[in-house]
Amino acid sequence: MPRIRQQNVLAAQWSSNGGNLGAPDLTSPDNQVFGENVFSPAIQRQRLSKDVYQRLSKTLAGGEALDTSLADSVAIAMKEWAMEKGATHYSHVFQPLTGLTAEKHDSFYAPTGEGTALAEFAGKELIQAEPDASSFPTGGIRATFEARGYTAWDPTSPAFILENPNGALLCIPTAFVSWTGEALDHKIPLLRSMDALSKSAMRALKLFGNRQAVRVFTTVGPEQEYFLIDEQYYFERPDLVTTGRTLFGAKPPKGHELDDHYFGSIPERVLAYMLDTEKELARLGVPIKTRHNEVAPAQYEVAPIFENSNVGADHQQLTMQVMQNIARRYGLVCLLHEKPFAGVNGSGKHNNWSMSTDDGENLLEPGDTPHENLQFLFFCAAVIQAVNSHQGLLRASIASAGQDHRLGANEAPPAIISIFLGAELERVFGAIERGEVGESTPGSFLGLGTPVLPPLPMHGGDRNRTSPFAFTGNKFEFRALGSSMSLSLPNTVLNTIVAEAIDYLAEELEDALDSGAELEAALRPILQRSYAANRGIVFGGDNYAEEWHAEAERRGLLNLRATPDALPYLISDQTEEVFSNYGVLSRRELESRYEVFLEQYVTKLNIEAEVAASIARTMLLPAAARHLAMMLNAQLPELATEVESLIATFVEAITALEWANLAENQPDDEALRHAEYMRDTVIGAMESVRAVADQLEKVVADDLWPLPKYSEILFIK
Ligand code: ADP
Ligand code: MG
Repeated sequence: MPRIRQQNVLAAQWSSNGGNLGAPDLTSPDNQVFGENVFSPAIQRQRLSKDVYQRLSKTLAGGEALDTSLADSVAIAMKEWAMEKGATHYSHVFQPLTGLTAEKHDSFYAPTGEGTALAEFAGKELIQAEPDASSFPTGGIRATFEARGYTAWDPTSPAFILENPNGALLCIPTAFVSWTGEALDHKIPLLRSMDALSKSAMRALKLFGNRQAVRVFTTVGPEQEYFLIDEQYYFERPDLVTTGRTLFGAKPPKGHELDDHYFGSIPERVLAYMLDTEKELARLGVPIKTRHNEVAPAQYEVAPIFENSNVGADHQQLTMQVMQNIARRYGLVCLLHEKPFAGVNGSGKHNNWSMSTDDGENLLEPGDTPHENLQFLFFCAAVIQAVNSHQGLLRASIASAGQDHRLGANEAPPAIISIFLGAELERVFGAIERGEVGESTPGSFLGLGTPVLPPLPMHGGDRNRTSPFAFTGNKFEFRALGSSMSLSLPNTVLNTIVAEAIDYLAEELEDALDSGAELEAALRPILQRSYAANRGIVFGGDNYAEEWHAEAERRGLLNLRATPDALPYLISDQTEEVFSNYGVLSRRELESRYEVFLEQYVTKLNIEAEVAASIARTMLLPAAARHLAMMLNAQLPELATEVESLIATFVEAITALEWANLAENQPDDEALRHAEYMRDTVIGAMESVRAVADQLEKVVADDLWPLPKYSEILFIK
């Protein structure tokens, strides 16, 4: 059965696309809209001298260091292009450790001293800028006296123009670094990890006889889930406005679930929004491919065609920004929180991940010949080994307060990291592990009786939807990312740990080949050992099931339910070792991330608790009291008594929450202890307040209840 090979299409696109694997060809004349606001390789070719263009392309394709003498020519061309498109300002866009996108706008114009202004934007402005770094978290890296950080142009991610009805802005993707050279952002480690993986994978590819590839890129295609709700409801809910999720709200009555929302038809206003968003993203060079309804009411999904990890991560940040901006044009608000509505399916982001050579060969594509299959099994084994060895780190890379509502609760995927391989691939590895395979004979692969690997299913229906990390035909899908997250850290982790595992296996293979073994004979025992040692991470069953939790414990797999349980794996000895071996994150850089993430967790929960207490006391309690007065007035003593006792419990719960959230009652000696306090005390106190409020919502007169209800928010489109 011929396998569809996306890679052939990729190879053709490669040359014109500067490593933008998978994305449509920007140079195609039928592509009027796609990339029209991008300083793409095609535009660069038109606007730069041949020499400058070629030198720049070399940097892009080979991942080589940038020749800074090019910067002036590029800056002039970029500025002219941007000003023709109406841009008056430029901005270095970067990704601080908050995971959000940051930008600082500077005008192209500088005063000349003669009462006029000239456009000023030269190489030095392109290459480097100095944002007010003190407003971004650094986890102690940068003491205030040296509160200086700078942004540095990343030429491998194309500049683009963001339009506003009143002007336009040239956006330049940059890295954010301290003057002492430490990464203050998420891009730098991602780029370092891509380099690390490229080196390791190239080393392995040589052993498989690949002599053409010069570089290996990691690729990412994120499937983004989100909610769309009417903005009227949004503004009537201080919890949504301030925290991104509803802190109160009883489950809607039964019946709505009957709506066949998933893959149902898309409401017209929503479809109009989607079309507009996709058009805007296309102009920005983000190749959106699919859209559909998701499981929950008012929930949707959008996915781009995959790109190299750096460009893909930048495009994902841009996608989230554009999605939120455009929603407002339609009177909608786009919610990216992981759990906007309790009791309703949350939102995640599936991180489809693979590795690809610069000439477009997907290293996780099984291929049609025994030789290709061996190479595939090698890289696949490396991923299994990496994920098994660094489960805790992977879990830590996706930890946040929002995520705890999904991963630690009863929702897919669970907090336990495991890998779904699919029955076919599991059988092949099983046979290898048991030593049941011999040499390939002309008619059969690895003595398995098949000419090549059996066809591996690529379609959604054949897959395990509960797995946090699933092989899906020619890529792995890390399904545990949160919907609001940046792709950078989880991909940095994946790239780095897989680089380590590839090196480990490549070294064994080199030794075996040096002692004269044939490739296939050399590889078999290596795969056998690696799979035997790591097969505990492989699980094909239902990840929701209680039995799995018990089974995972027997297997010794980690089950890190909450953020404070997971984050310490960011600074474990093992993590430090792999990150420093590959030059991706130093100990100081790791510690700074650990601290920033703990701080964010605490801050988010502090804010939630404060908003919850305030809504409860100043909006819900008065409503309940009015309702009580009404019942007393109407001489309905039984109903009054019911409300009265709820109110008494409510007041108690609110008071307890307020106490728990007082700064002086919280441990402040150590960040982890503070986070644990939030997890163990404050969350429970919020839940108690909510439980009573949700009961009150069901008895208080509808016209007195001050918050829009789930049944309105989720079902009115
Ligand atoms: P699904 O079956 O999950 O709907 P799709 O084929 O539609 O899968 O792909 C889902 C996502 O995976 C898309 O964003 C797609 O671009 C991405 N993807 C496909 N191939 C790769 C790859 N080699 N590397 C990274 N992402 C990929
Ligand atoms: Mg998917």
